[in-house]
Formats: sequence, structure tokens, C-alpha cells
Amino acid sequence: MDFAVSPKMEKILTKVRTFVREELYPLEPQVLNEGFSSVLPILEEKRAKVRAMGLALPQIEKEHGGMGLSVLEHGLVQAELAKTYTGVYCFNCQAPDAGNMEILIKYGTPEQQERFLKPLLAGKTRSCFSMTEVDYPGSNPTWMGTTAVKDGDDYVINGHKWFTSSYDGAEFAIVMAVTNPDAPKHGRASQIIVPIDTPGFTLVENISCMGHRGEGWDSHAEVRYENVRVPQSNLLGAEGAGFLIAQERLGPGRIHHCMRWVGISERAFELMCEQALTREVAPDRALATQQVVQTWISECRAEINAARLMVLQAADTIDRLGAKEARVEISLIKFFVPNVMMKVLDRAIQLHGGRGITEHTPLATFWRNERASRIYDGPDEVHKMSAGKRILELFRAEMARDQG
Ligand SMILES: Cc1cc2nc3c(=O)[nH]c(=O)nc-3n(C[C@H](O)[C@H](O)[C@H](O)COP(=O)(O)OP(=O)(O)OC[C@H]3O[C@@H](n4cnc5c(N)ncnc54)[C@H](O)[C@@H]3O)c2cc1C
Repeated sequence: MDFAVSPKMEKILTKVRTFVREELYPLEPQVLNEGFSSVLPILEEKRAKVRAMGLALPQIEKEHGGMGLSVLEHGLVQAELAKTYTGVYCFNCQAPDAGNMEILIKYGTPEQQERFLKPLLAGKTRSCFSMTEVDYPGSNPTWMGTTAVKDGDDYVINGHKWFTSSYDGAEFAIVMAVTNPDAPKHGRASQIIVPIDTPGFTLVENISCMGHRGEGWDSHAEVRYENVRVPQSNLLGAEGAGFLIAQERLGPGRIHHCMRWVGISERAFELMCEQALTREVAPDRALATQQVVQTWISECRAEINAARLMVLQAADTIDRLGAKEARVEISLIKFFVPNVMMKVLDRAIQLHGGRGITEHTPLATFWRNERASRIYDGPDEVHKMSAGKRILELFRAEMARDQG
């Protein structure tokens, strides 16, 4: 799809697109059949190439070694990288590390940045973010059971979390824990850095999700914190600011996710078109000749275009006015885009018949991994409610102004 981008971005996007097609698409059969970790040694070589081309860390400011792109520009890069499963990892802009880098840049002390941020930016380590709990609703992050209690110079942390994605092989976690239980609900929790090898911080299991247990970066862990002791100097930002910092991380983070989902939709669409044109339902009669297929192609194209423009508009609002002013736009894309992606993936799988659910294409893996998009970073229902509430508030204020 044509979209007017600056000559600088056109050059970057061409390089990224070429790299993804020439260097990463060929890895797909191995990644899909043998798992992400099977290609790690090759991916480290690819990462070195990406760094040498000056394309690593598209989301990070130049002073920290990144490309210094705006939210919108980085969104365009994400859409290219997402077309294959290893893309974001190769460019060191994968969740949850990208969000952790942003937090450490903004709130990390010089000592925290030296020890935890620098190796992360260099691609030498990985990290995880540990907020969601087994016994509390993740969609209400102001209510949680994990505590961090001061004892001497330390915090002592106790809790039971899950969906601590990419814990396996990470160097440290950023954990959300209640430090100020008597404060108003948005000021109760703090974010604290916990090195993975701290005694008492243990893996229960990499949870099996939709039949896939995963490993390394591609995994979701259930973990326990049992009298985990870390120095108070591991606190990130102010005590009680955990919720606020989490919210800040989520604004641009949701743009990254949504553009990644636009990229996945684009890849599914490309596969759909190829399949329509090459698979014959009878001699000399391609699938593409069928009206139902033509209709699916038009509907998918329209829906992806709409999703893409909505995300770019939200990104542009963040760039110009900040994440707070883009709250409605961010909530709208957070439920709209995953639903478009799931619909496109479903049609693409259907068009591929039995092949669609094999690992002969990336469609089945996309579908299995990305169903979660409607749940994490705020489930659909919560975003619909909060956007609706805000739209009505703004409308009410406008009505009051009009009336006098
Ligand atoms: C693949 C994956 C990766 C993840 N990675 C991480 C990670 O790295 N770190 C981390 O901390 N967490 C992570 N999570 C957890 C994720 O953030 C939570 O699953 C999410 O916040 C929802 O919380 P919950 O699962 O406890 O569901 P609940 O909060 O129990 O909600 C269950 C369902 O109830 C409905 N619901 C909830 N609230 C409302 C409401 N107010 N009104 C109407 N309906 C509502 C929604 O349909 C929701 O899906 C991940 C989750 C997945 C699936």
C-alpha cells in the first residue's frame, strides 16, 4: 500500500524490507518446524549484520545507540519486521525488552543503566516484565498480591506471577509489587529490578499456551518470589510510581504491537493472494476466479488499510501531542487491529485448506501466537469501555461549551 513517507524513511524501509525477505524468510521452515531456539546461533549473526547496517534499535534515541525514529516512523519499521517471526528479535526491538529499555532510559539511575540497560541495548542480554498474577485480574493492575517490604537496605519480595514472558534465559525481571498498601490505589505498587539468579526467585514452568510450551525468548513463565531480597537501590523511579510507569510504557508499546499486527496481516494477505492465483480448483481454474475469494481479498485489503491508517494516526498524535492526548486513539486501535488481524489470518488459513494449518506457511504459528493480542496490554472489553467513556466525556464537555 502506498503511504507518503519521507525520503529518509523510504530508504530505511527499503533496506529493512530487503533484509527481511532475503535474510529472514529463508529461516522460516526451520523456525516453524524446530522452534525459535534452533535458529538462535544464526540469528546472532543476523543481529550483528543489522547492527553493522545501523538498523538496530529503531525505537531508541540516537544518544543511546538507536536509530532515533519517531513513534510513527518506528511503527512503519515494525510493520515490515513483523512479516516474519524473527524480524523484531533481529533488530533488537522485541517485547518485552523494548519496553524495559524505555523504562530504564527514562527512570534508571546511572548505576542501573550501566548494569542492566547497556547490555540490553547491545543485545547481549534479555529481560522480562513481571506484573500479571495467577490469583488477581491482570486487567486491573492496581490490585495485586505481590508485596515488597523494606528490611534494612533491602526489599523483600513475595508473590506468585505468571505470563512473565521471556523469563527463560533472561538476565533480570522488572517486577511490579505493592510497596505502599495504604496509598490510593494508583500509588500502591512500585517497579523493582530483580536479577534472575536472586535466591528465592524461581521458575514454576514455562506455561504451555495453545499446545506450545516454548523456550527462551519465545516462552511465558509462571514464577514465584519467596523472600526474594534485593537492594532498595533496585527501585525504578519513585516508590509507588509503578502503575504510572507501566501506563507510560504501554502508550508507544501499543503502537509497536498494533503495527506489528498490521505487518502480520500484510504477510497473511500476500500469502492469500499467492494462493488465490496459483492454487487451481479445477484444470485452468485458479481459486482467484471464484467470487467468494475475490470478496475476501477486497474485504481484507479494506480492513488492513483501515487498521494501518488508524495506527499511523494514533502514532502521529503521540508524536505531536504526547501519549496522554492519544488515549482514545490508542484504545481504539488496541481492540480494532487484533480483530482485523485474526479475521485476515482466519481467511488466509481457510484459503490454504489443509496446508493452512500446517507449518508449511507461517499462518498457523501467527494464528496460535497472536490470538493473545486481544487479551494482553488490556483486553478488548476494557479498551472499548475506556474509549467509549472518554469519547462521551469529551462530547459532554463540548455540549456544555456550546450551551453557554
Ligand atoms: C501471550 C501473553 C503474553 C503476556 N506477557 C506478559 C508479560 O510479559 N508480563 C506480564 O506481566 N503479563 C503478561 N501477560 C498477561 C496479560 O497482561 C494479562 O493476561 C491481561 O492483562 C489480562 O489479565 P488476566 O489474564 O488476569 O485476565 P482477567 O483480568 O482475569 O480478565 C479475564 C477476561 O475478563 C474480561 N474482563 C476483564 N476486565 C473486564 C472489565 N472491566 N469489563 C469487562 N470485561 C472484563 C476480559 O474479557 C478478559 O479477557 C501476557 C499474556 C499473554 C496471553
